[in-house]
Amino acid sequence: MAKTIFQKIIDREIPADIVYEDDQCLAFRDVAPQAPVHVLLIPKREIVSLDALGDGDAALVVHLWKVIRELAGKLGLGGGYRVVVNCGRDGGQSVDHLHFHILGGRPMTWPPG
Ligand code: 5GP
Repeated sequence: MAKTIFQKIIDREIPADIVYEDDQCLAFRDVAPQAPVHVLLIPKREIVSLDALGDGDAALVVHLWKVIRELAGKLGLGGGYRVVVNCGRDGGQSVDHLHFHILGGRPMTWPPG
């Protein structure tokens, strides 16, 4: 199967503005930001979507949420932020590699589009 754009970023085949990395995950700025701060956090292991997570991923999921909290602080989002996971076509997912959008730097509105 062809590599996703995010796998190519993990493999350093295409550039990205990386803001955080550890052995399990990578965070980089979205190429088309929807807010003053718009960062994507992805697991390094290829997981197609939220639907593909299993019981064995519990530790990874806890780790990802910990990184999200810490990153929000580092990115200056003390006033609040939004985390979005688009899942599947109707959910608006366009890259088939699980990713968390971290959005902030302006007041968020509801409902989302
Ligand atoms: P989705 O629509 O799947 O939830 O989110 C995919 C996100 O990836 C979009 O916000 C899109 O702007 C971002 N994106 C797509 N291609 C690239 C890329 O090559 N580099 C970066 N940094 N972001 C990308």
